Amino acid sequence: MHAHEGIAQRLGLVLPQADIDKIHGNPLKMLAWWTPPVVKPKEIITWKCDYCAKEGTDKSEQFAKFNYVYCSIKCLGAHRQKMQG
Ligand SMILES: [Zn+2]
Repeated sequence: MHAHEGIAQRLGLVLPQADIDKIHGNPLKMLAWWTPPVVKPKEIITWKCDYCAKEGTDKSEQFAKFNYVYCSIKCLGAHRQKMQG
C-alpha cells in the first residue's frame, strides 16, 4: 500500500483501470473530440442595414432609428419614405 496512491485516488487524480485500458486500446479516440480551431474572420458582422442589407462591423457606423438599423442616413430616409408609402 502506497500512501501517495491513496491520496491521489481520493482526489480523483487516478483514472479507473477501465479508462486506462480504453485509452491504451484506442489512442486516437482520445483525440476524436478534438477539432482544429476555426479561424475566425477578423471582422464580425454586428449589424445589417434594414434597407439595403449592407452589413457592418463597426456599430459607430450604423444609423439606428426605432427598431431599425441603417448603413447611412440615405437608407434611413429612403426606408422611412417607403414605409410611409
Ligand atoms: Zn443601407
